[in-house]
Amino acid sequence: MLTALAGGVGAARFLRGLVDVVDPDTVTVVVNTGDDDEFHGLWVCPDLDSVTYTLADAHDRERGWGLAGETFVTVDALGRFGDDTWFRLGDRDLATHLHRTERRRAGVPLHRITADIASAWGVRSRLLPMTDDRVATRITARGPDGTTEYAMQEWFVRERAEPVVEAVAFAGAADARPAPGVLEALHDAETIVLCPSNPVISIGPILAVPGIREVLVERRDRVVGVSPIVGGRPVKGPADRLMGPLGIDVSSVGVARAYRDFCSALVIDVRDAADADAVAALGVRPVVTDTLMRDARIAAALARETLAAV
Ligand code: GDP
Repeated sequence: MLTALAGGVGAARFLRGLVDVVDPDTVTVVVNTGDDDEFHGLWVCPDLDSVTYTLADAHDRERGWGLAGETFVTVDALGRFGDDTWFRLGDRDLATHLHRTERRRAGVPLHRITADIASAWGVRSRLLPMTDDRVATRITARGPDGTTEYAMQEWFVRERAEPVVEAVAFAGAADARPAPGVLEALHDAETIVLCPSNPVISIGPILAVPGIREVLVERRDRVVGVSPIVGGRPVKGPADRLMGPLGIDVSSVGVARAYRDFCSALVIDVRDAADADAVAALGVRPVVTDTLMRDARIAAALARETLAAV
């Protein structure tokens, strides 16, 4: 039994490697839902969908998100009416959001909808949203027109992560409950993996759901993280634009400092080998290896090393 905490694309790549080296049936993935939002009346869960599509081998490898062979006819057609089309929903992807939204409206909890979508895609691992409740990542940032509070996708996609971050909050987190199965999966896991995900807006919201961080602290010896920082920079995405302003060093040392209370080992990249001593000085055992997942073979080797670390 193994449980992973996951954001979207970075996590999905890692998990794809993981299920090559362990039986996928023994893996539970607790996924961030702080990025979830409504577009054109449809409920979209970007991280759950990235993990589902990648584990189903249905993801687009070049674009880095969404489904392979995707088209965008519908979203472009919406542009005719002057609707916002900056959030690119693919035509095939729309089916997932239509299905999810209809069931959600009928009162089915997100964990059940998630399980059914994953199973329909042939995913054998168990995917759990961190919570069935609404938690919304809110980013306060300074742009040309002053300081504004943005929804995560507004800041990241519409504004291209350009407004300078001043604060991040997870609205609703204090009253959220972990989805059924989440705490049990963390209690029972032989190993808990923090995927190479954005520490602030992918792992952060999961830890903000009351109860989750506490189990990790209790089980610290069994928790291993993989740093999303390679060569002193995020591989892709805005982690540096969030970590820096919030006082987290944009390095594997910064990740170790953020995770040290609940994580006993951190896999860091060979390009950051010089950070190993500083990570160890924080009480986190560094494991140095190639973490740049250029292909499935490297991702699988990384997964093997990660599991061996605790
Ligand atoms: P998002 O919600 O789609 O941004 O997904 P995540 O939070 O799971 O992933 C984003 C993080 O994954 C970024 O900070 C990247 O630096 C990291 N990442 C992406 N690819 C790789 C990789 O090949 N190796 C490592 N170590 N990190 C990666």
